[in-house]
Amino acid sequence: MTTLQEFRCEVCGLVTTNPTHWFVIRCGNSDLTVHRWNSETANATGAQHYCGEAHAEVYISRWFESVCAPPKPIFK
Ligand SMILES: [Zn+2]
Repeated sequence: MTTLQEFRCEVCGLVTTNPTHWFVIRCGNSDLTVHRWNSETANATGAQHYCGEAHAEVYISRWFESVCAPPKPIFK
């Protein structure tokens, strides 16, 4: 018996049953962790799935923006 599990990229909506080279991101209020794909992490509560580095970076950029807004002034 084969169980094929589908995962969807949170950025582009791509669906795969073979998420090789995908990444898992877990995000909290004070931290964000990027994991290499493994099924245990991918199935954890709150795990988000990204089809590759580029889309993982999209999410990380959004996270930085949300954490760092409003931007701090740069001292001169
Ligand atoms: Zn994607």
